[in-house]
Amino acid sequence: MLEDKDRIFTNLYGLHDWRLEEAKKRGAWNGTADFIRMGHDWLIQQIKNSGLRGRGGAGFPTGLKWSFMPKEIGERPHYLVVNADESEPGTCKDREMMRHDPHLFIEGCLIASYAMKAHACYIYIRGEYVDERNNLQAAIDEAYAAGLVGKNASGSGWDFDIYVAHGAGAYICGEETALLESLEGKKGQPRLKPPFPAGAGLYGCPTTVNNVESIAVVPTILRRGAEWFTKFGRDNNHGTKVFCISGHVERPCNVEEAMSVPLKKLINEHCGGVIGGWDNLKAIIPGGSSVPLLPREICDDVLMDFDALKDVKSGLGTAAVIVMDKSTDIVRAISRISYFYKHESCGQCTPCREGTGWMWRVLERMAEGDSTTEEIDKLLEVAGQVEGHTICALGDAAAWPVQGLIRHFRGEIEDRINAYRSDRGAVSMAGVAAE
Ligand code: SF4
Repeated sequence: MLEDKDRIFTNLYGLHDWRLEEAKKRGAWNGTADFIRMGHDWLIQQIKNSGLRGRGGAGFPTGLKWSFMPKEIGERPHYLVVNADESEPGTCKDREMMRHDPHLFIEGCLIASYAMKAHACYIYIRGEYVDERNNLQAAIDEAYAAGLVGKNASGSGWDFDIYVAHGAGAYICGEETALLESLEGKKGQPRLKPPFPAGAGLYGCPTTVNNVESIAVVPTILRRGAEWFTKFGRDNNHGTKVFCISGHVERPCNVEEAMSVPLKKLINEHCGGVIGGWDNLKAIIPGGSSVPLLPREICDDVLMDFDALKDVKSGLGTAAVIVMDKSTDIVRAISRISYFYKHESCGQCTPCREGTGWMWRVLERMAEGDSTTEEIDKLLEVAGQVEGHTICALGDAAAWPVQGLIRHFRGEIEDRINAYRSDRGAVSMAGVAAE
């Protein structure tokens, strides 16, 4: 289990005051100007050395992403945009960081912006996060008043402004280019890539979009050293990570743990186990609703990191662990997830617009058993046609849960179809007998 001394988010549960004075006592804003004086390249190299991979879902190496920004400021300003539109079902980690540890996050925004030569940072926060944005804005105001941000931020010689923008509740605005469109005041629809944001992002200027957690861990990595961060997790999967565990566990919680922690250990040690015991487990979605579920046999010993979950054809995603015990109607659960993606599709591309609705309608019937075994193959085929054939990853996000369901629970769908047919057969035979 991760020791308390190695936790980055020491106020994750809001047990202490989040305001500046107390945040400083916990280590925030300690040595910030010194890190900045080390220079842009040094900062990027430290983050590369730490092995930090993006915590928003894709797991792209953060330092490498930063290095894609132009080396010098040209005619167009550089921007850091932080994606705080946390909307993946099951995910509630950035929320806690913003309301309980906002100063650590704001300090990370300054350091990351400086590393990429950005004088301005925009935080795009989910509209429903009212308390979070209130705390965040209050913390930003405190930071301005204390000279930590603004002109000559923290005495570093770097001018830095930071703004909070509210979303309006559309899941798709968590996709980085849709987020940029929304921030520019347009309809939040993903852009075709290329160009990538590092070349033409916000207002056509070089931009990096990072997740809240990816930015909030940066100051601590620098204070404790990149090597410290690499102590946790397997190769290529380093660091600590905040996991959000919900569903059929005794005590749902958010918890910071070392990467590569075994899934079973995570649930047993931090959540009091699965309701009814581990043997009562049916399946787990390990990384937010978009990643394929895993049946119990795989959950027994899978590790919670990017590569281990990829090896079992799922993903770490946002590390939102959704636990389903044997009372779960698994077909209906995935159908409900399908409905979510149908509802959130922006409708720009045909496979997603049409495919998400089609998959949901078929799954709704399958949940009743009103289907055929041939239709299971058709559903798999359509999911494959949606996956990878759309402008943004929402198409994949809609296809993967369906593929996971069929991969691991095809027998259950078939049983349901057979039961439905024999019920109907019994009813029609009863009708014949009555005549
Ligand atoms: Fe919109 Fe879906 Fe296409 Fe993404 S994949 S751009 S959400 S229609």
